[in-house]
Amino acid sequence: MGLAALPSVETIHAPPSWRCIDFISDLHLHDGLPRTTAALSHYLRHTPADAVFILGDLFEAWVGDDMRGQPYEADCMAMLAEAGQRLHLGIMVGNRDFLLGADALKACHAHALPDPCVLHALGQRVLLTHGDAWCLADTRYLAFREQVRQPAWQEAFLAAPLEARLQQARQMRTASQQHQQAMKPETWADVDEAEAARWLSATACQTLIHGHTHRPTQEHFGPPDCQRLVLSDWDLDHDDAAPGRAEVLRMSQSGFDRITVWQATAS
Ligand code: MN
Repeated sequence: MGLAALPSVETIHAPPSWRCIDFISDLHLHDGLPRTTAALSHYLRHTPADAVFILGDLFEAWVGDDMRGQPYEADCMAMLAEAGQRLHLGIMVGNRDFLLGADALKACHAHALPDPCVLHALGQRVLLTHGDAWCLADTRYLAFREQVRQPAWQEAFLAAPLEARLQQARQMRTASQQHQQAMKPETWADVDEAEAARWLSATACQTLIHGHTHRPTQEHFGPPDCQRLVLSDWDLDHDDAAPGRAEVLRMSQSGFDRITVWQATAS
């Protein structure tokens, strides 16, 4: 950090045929979310987008690609595969599903999106990230992240039997629910503006799109001519979330639009 040079960032060049590009994130899918899962399925079947980019935390927990054989996850893989065969599906991992690997992505005909990466589309360069790595104030989480992103840690974790890893995921979900109940989203750490500015400048981007914080917004961010668009999380299964959140950020020749999944699927 500080003044260290930033690593080079992969650029995805959209083919000229792409007219409509969707961004979603933070669905936090698990088998206790039937309505949210159904909404995603409906959306993927009906979106007119040429490409859908999922910017992290598609799943609430992912403990290894052998999880794709579990009943709920197998259904999700089939739903994603159907979309991946019809449109360009890009998937970035988040802090929940960082173990989503090459085997799972291949099974759903998806392309891995490095975090961060640049999308060059419709005459614009857009910087994409999940967002957690740049929440610099959350030092405790960043130390955890540093640990679990090490190949040696992942190898050791994945060596445990699937049932033990699933058990660990259940415990993590319970702990996370308790943590979230204790802490309102507005008090969660936010993406550090100076850090985002460094990346925006280094990649010659004027727009940053990220998720993770569950605080959707469009605002000036970083260098004077730059903005960020923060994605909404999805939740159609909790009454306290009524009428529910399920938003798509759509990029087209006319700019960015934030729309609900029900509008997003009308062609
Ligand atoms: Mn997240």
